Amino acid sequence: MTHAIEPKPGILQIAPYQGGASHVPGRSEVVKLSSNENPAGPPESAREALKKVAHLLHRYPSTDHAALRRAIAETHGLKAGNIICGAGSDELIHMLCTAYTGPGTEVIHTEHGFAMYRLSALAAGATPVEVAEHERKVDVDRILEAVTFRTRLVFVANPANPTGTMLGSNDIGRLAAELPENVLLVLDGAYAEYVEGYDGGARLVAERENVVMTRTFSKIYALGGLRVGWAYGPPHVIDVLDRVRGPFNLGTPQLVAAEAAVRDRGFVDRSRAENARLRTWLAKALAEIGVMSDTSTANFVLARFDSADEAVACEAYLRADGLLVRLVAGYKLPHCLRITVGDEPSCRRVVHAIARFKGQDG
Ligand SMILES: *Cc1c(COP(=O)(O)O)cnc(C)c1O
Repeated sequence: MTHAIEPKPGILQIAPYQGGASHVPGRSEVVKLSSNENPAGPPESAREALKKVAHLLHRYPSTDHAALRRAIAETHGLKAGNIICGAGSDELIHMLCTAYTGPGTEVIHTEHGFAMYRLSALAAGATPVEVAEHERKVDVDRILEAVTFRTRLVFVANPANPTGTMLGSNDIGRLAAELPENVLLVLDGAYAEYVEGYDGGARLVAERENVVMTRTFSKIYALGGLRVGWAYGPPHVIDVLDRVRGPFNLGTPQLVAAEAAVRDRGFVDRSRAENARLRTWLAKALAEIGVMSDTSTANFVLARFDSADEAVACEAYLRADGLLVRLVAGYKLPHCLRITVGDEPSCRRVVHAIARFKGQDG
């Protein structure tokens, strides 16, 4: 039914975002491996910081986020003035689309790219343009071929979700260098901390005028419930984003908890090491029962099944056992399941359950 009151074009094309499942009817306890959350739980440092601001909740929060930006800058060796904070990297993706795109413009994302790029482009009235990947890996040449005079933004997650694959700095550098100068490359570094020694693209941002990097506290920092993300970009981009940012887009609890977490380097180092250890174990154990995956650079494994039917049946089998993993048909990977690297007992449980499902429990 159509209404006399209509939203602007594009809005009704947006299908609501489907988050990872978190409940199974009739079960009180589930193992949630569907949203790439850090199984360690939030850092103690962040919990302590939260308690200390409970008596301050009648006060409006900081509007310039100076303390959090300084902490991020010190930890990552960046300039605080080139950082902007948002309610998750989702808000930064949204701000980028709001500020740089609109009707008559195009936003490039890749075949298996994160859903928010398309949704935010549509919300801004722009046209999302999907570019094919090559065997679940972003293809720089295909992106460059898809650029038109209407293109304004190119979104690439590196490492990518849900594939877990990653482009090297040569490929990313070439993409940035060969894009027309009026196109902004957005490097989504939601999983950057899982790659030892990787800067998420920060150096490229510092060298160029057409690259911005987004980061999040939702993944390795284990603060997805808080909603804090940030972006690092050239001054002209940060200035533009600051103009579309709501003045109080982050609350005091978010600001102080994220600040404590980003200074807590031990937490990140431990989480990275534990993830790498269990990810290797998980991928190998799955391969031994015939479930293959690409080498993952993030905190999940994209398990490939023989068919879409088998993937759907396996997800239901796991769910009935209280194990929640992610169906990724919406990402054009209907024969795959994305499995977050949980703690060690969860990794063992999910492998044993898949082995049973495959009829290989010995
Ligand atoms: C999880 C994720 C994010 C993080 O989103 P937040 O809004 O910061 O929670 C961003 N990009 C990708 C590719 C992700 O997988």
